[in-house]
Amino acid sequence: MKFLSVCILSFILCYSATAQEYATLRRNMVKEQIQDRGVTHLPTLTALLNVPRHEFVPRSLRHHAYLDQPLPIGEGQTISQPYIVAFMTAALRLNKEDRVLEIGTGSGYQAAVLAKIVDSVYTIEIVESLAWAAQKRLKKLGYANVVVRAGDGYHGWPKKAPFDAIMVTAGADSIPQPLVDQLKQGGRMIIPVGPQNGVRQLVLLTKKKNKIVKRNLMAVRFVPFTRKD
Ligand code: SAH
Repeated sequence: MKFLSVCILSFILCYSATAQEYATLRRNMVKEQIQDRGVTHLPTLTALLNVPRHEFVPRSLRHHAYLDQPLPIGEGQTISQPYIVAFMTAALRLNKEDRVLEIGTGSGYQAAVLAKIVDSVYTIEIVESLAWAAQKRLKKLGYANVVVRAGDGYHGWPKKAPFDAIMVTAGADSIPQPLVDQLKQGGRMIIPVGPQNGVRQLVLLTKKKNKIVKRNLMAVRFVPFTRKD
């Protein structure tokens, strides 16, 4: 009996799914968690079908990579739930030639999803160890159109501005003005906004000719947007 338990335990610990098994899990994830909940933007669905999410989570959590939930990635941070990644990506109505800025690189997963859809992705992460790990991971996986920088994303990336779209993947108290300034005319930004530790609103901001239009899309929970002083 003891021998059998040891065998079963070793199997669970050592077993790693094949690429084909992960592809099947991804197909189910896209169908059940994303399409069935109303996301229809084809480039977004295709990107989520093709980015190997299990490569972006800690090895010990790989078997959870395609579940309907966020997961810890170290340093107290999380990779967002697949549905939220898809919803935010689709909301930006991206075009192939777009230049996109992401604030909150985390694992690099969201940046990889964006990189499947648009030509250039710039992403900033405030926790240095996460930034370097994401940069290494994205390089190893062949995402040549993503540039990672360590720093406080509050200030955006003036040298690479203006952007067609900006995605903030950490929950902010308010919308950073430098990010609004770095949006092109007609550009879109998606950002979770609201009180610390509370439920925030996912806000879609569009920069029109003479005005900024904001629309609340849904209530969400995100790790906080922090600042370097
Ligand atoms: N998009 C990530 C998940 C983001 S979690 C992924 O796909 O894995 C939010 C990330 O935002 C965390 O890693 C956190 O460290 C980072 N963050 C918080 N405040 C920030 C800031 N001011 N500038 C840049 N990154 C920030």
